Amino acid sequence: MDIDVSMVEKIVKDVMAVMNANGSTSNSEEYNYGIFSNMNDAIEAADKAEKEYLKRPLSDRKKYIQVIRNIASSKDNLELMSRRTVEETGMGNYEDKLIKNEVAALNSPGIEDLETKAISGDDGLTTVDFSPFGVIGAITPTTNPTETIICNSIGMIAAGDTVVFSPHPRAAKISADLIRMLNKGLEDAGAPRNLIVTVEKPSLESTNTMMEHPAIRMLVATGGPGIVKAVLSSGKKAIGAGAGNPPVVVDETANIEKAARDIVNGASFDNNLPCTSEKEIIAVDSIADYLMFNMKKNGAYEIKDQDKLKQLTELVTKNNDPNKDFVGKSAQYILDKIGIKVDSDIRLIICEADKQHPFVQIELMMPILALVRVKDVDEAIDFAVEVEHGNRHTALIHSTNIDALTKMAKLIQTTIFVKNGPSYAGIGVGGEGYSTFTIAGPTGEGLTSAKSFARRRRCVLVGGLAVK
Ligand code: NAD
Repeated sequence: MDIDVSMVEKIVKDVMAVMNANGSTSNSEEYNYGIFSNMNDAIEAADKAEKEYLKRPLSDRKKYIQVIRNIASSKDNLELMSRRTVEETGMGNYEDKLIKNEVAALNSPGIEDLETKAISGDDGLTTVDFSPFGVIGAITPTTNPTETIICNSIGMIAAGDTVVFSPHPRAAKISADLIRMLNKGLEDAGAPRNLIVTVEKPSLESTNTMMEHPAIRMLVATGGPGIVKAVLSSGKKAIGAGAGNPPVVVDETANIEKAARDIVNGASFDNNLPCTSEKEIIAVDSIADYLMFNMKKNGAYEIKDQDKLKQLTELVTKNNDPNKDFVGKSAQYILDKIGIKVDSDIRLIICEADKQHPFVQIELMMPILALVRVKDVDEAIDFAVEVEHGNRHTALIHSTNIDALTKMAKLIQTTIFVKNGPSYAGIGVGGEGYSTFTIAGPTGEGLTSAKSFARRRRCVLVGGLAVK
C-alpha cells in the first residue's frame, strides 16, 4: 500500500493542534490527570493551561464549576473522600466530613460572585470587573483536606485562575485522588488539561518551590501560623487563613438548654478539627453549673477529679502545644487512654479550668472543652478578647442581651461571630451564608470566595454608553 506522506503529516499536525488547544502536554502517555512527580512540571502545566483558559468564555467556566460540584457531591465520592480522609489522616469523623464536603461542593460561590460595578455619567461608562490572577499556589491543611481543595477549586476556577495545590503530606493520597477525579471530569467536559494540579508527594521543599516560582501570581495558605507567615513573607500577593481559638461566652440571659446543646454539637463536630469550632467556654457564674448539667445531658462527659484532669492535660499537650497524636481523635478514644470507658454517645469531654490552663489558652483541635467561670458578662467578654489572642478568627456568644451581643461583636473583631448557634452555623451549616474552608482573618478577605481570587480592573469608555 502506498503511503501518502503529506496526508500523514496533515493528520499529525491536526492531532497536535487539537492537543495544544486542549492544553495537554506533548507526551499524552505521561499525562496523569493533573498529578505530577515534580513541582516545577506541575506549575508549568498549570501555567500553560491558564493561557488557554483565558480564551474560554464565562459559560465554560460556569459549566466547569458545575462539573466540580457534581463530582464532589455525588454520594459515592462524598463517602469515598470522607472515609479515606479519616483513614489517611487518622483524624476527624466520617459523618461530619460528609457534611463538610457536601457544603463545600454545593455552597461555595461560583461565577455569580464576580459582580461588576458600573459608574456612568457625562464622561461615559466605567466598569470595575474581576479578572484572574493567573496561576495560584494553594496550600491546604490536614484538618479539612478535601473540603479546602473543593472550595478553593470552585472559587479559583470561577475567577478564571488555574491552581497548583500543595496539600499537607499527611493527606497527600486523598488530595491527589480528588484532584485526579476533578481533572478527569473537567477534561470530559472539554476543559483545558491541568486546570487543577498537584504533586504526588508534597513536602515542605515542594511547597517552598511553589512559593518561589515566578509563574505563581498569588499564594493562598490555609493552615497554622507557620505557613501563613511563610506566604506573607513571600513577596507575592498572599491570602493567609490561619489559626483560631474560638471562645464561646454564655451569660445569664441565654437559653441555657439550647446553648448547651449548640456548644456540644459545635465543639464535637468532626472531633473539633474545624478552626471555627468552640475551643473554650466562658460562662457567667450564676448559670455555669446549669450549663454543665445540660451539656452532660447532650453527650458531654465531665472530668471533675483533679488528678484525672492533670493526667489528661499531660497526655494531650506537649510543651504547651497540642500533642498531635490526639488531634481530631474522638472523646471515647481520648478518655480510654486515661482509663475511662464510655460508649460512643459521648462526643465531648468537659471540665472546669482556670484562665491560664492550656485547654483554655491553646488551640487543641480535640473534643475537649474547658469552662472558665467569671462573675458577669463584661468580664466574660474581656477574657474572650484576650484568649482569642488577636487571631480575628471566630467567636461565639449565647445571650439575649442586645448590649452584650453588640459589645462583644465590636470588641473581638473576629471574621466570624456567631450569636445563639453552634460554630458551624458560621460556615453555612445551619446558618445563612455561603460556605468556605479558607477563612482569611489575618489578611482580611474574610470568608473567601471567587472574588477573593480575582484582581479588580477598571475599564473606561469615554463619552458614551451612559444612559441616565
Ligand atoms: P499546618 O500549618 O501544619 O499545615 C498547613 C499546610 O501548610 C500543610 O500543607 C503543610 O504541609 C504546610 N506547611 C506548614 N508549615 C510549613 C512551612 N514552614 N513551609 C511549607 N509548608 C508548610 O496546619 P494543619 O495541622 O494542617 O491544620 C491545622 C491548622 O490550620 C490550625 O491551626 C487551624 O486553625 C488552621 N486552619 C485554618 C483555617 C482557616 O480557614 N483559617 C482552615 C483550616 C485550618
